[in-house]
Amino acid sequence: MGPSELRALVRDVPDFPEPGVIFKDVTPVLADPRALASLVDLIAAPFREAGVTSVAGIEARGFTLATPVALALGVGFAPFRKPGKLPYRAHTEEYQLEYGADALQAHVDAIRPGERVLIVDDVVATGGTAGAAVRLVRRFGAEVAGLGAFIELEFLNGRAALPGIDIRTIVAYA
Ligand code: AMP
Repeated sequence: MGPSELRALVRDVPDFPEPGVIFKDVTPVLADPRALASLVDLIAAPFREAGVTSVAGIEARGFTLATPVALALGVGFAPFRKPGKLPYRAHTEEYQLEYGADALQAHVDAIRPGERVLIVDDVVATGGTAGAAVRLVRRFGAEVAGLGAFIELEFLNGRAALPGIDIRTIVAYA
């Protein structure tokens, strides 16, 4: 399946999780085996020659794509989670939300210095979450090989928040 067929499977859910937000529900894509296989291939493809040594997935929907992308690239997976979920010692990077702050954590042994890490998520919106993931990767003395995501909400200008990052998305909403 190509990007336009995948796009047709995305379900818009208005006013979730709060009024005014149109939530991009990717569960119909995940439920369709042909769509899921195509999406994983499309996310992995630009990074096959990028020297990726690890894929970091952003909680929680990012995990569903990051793990098969890691398998497609022949590398391991590192979970970047919301605070308080990881059992072992963790590094923390905070980021600002419209109201308040949130954070991502990774186990202190999730990534080694010098690794090339591909960050994967389902949706890039303002880029705040991905920006925290970039800082977290760099905390390990590792490099960001790129950011791969299914959906980009271009009107929220996430790319401006992620200077110098090789961002590849499959479907964009202007
Ligand atoms: P941001 O930090 O603004 O780029 O938001 C990205 C994170 O929030 C991703 O982990 C997405 O899963 C989620 N997200 C933000 N906006 C949406 C949306 N409209 N539909 C689905 N997920 C979203």
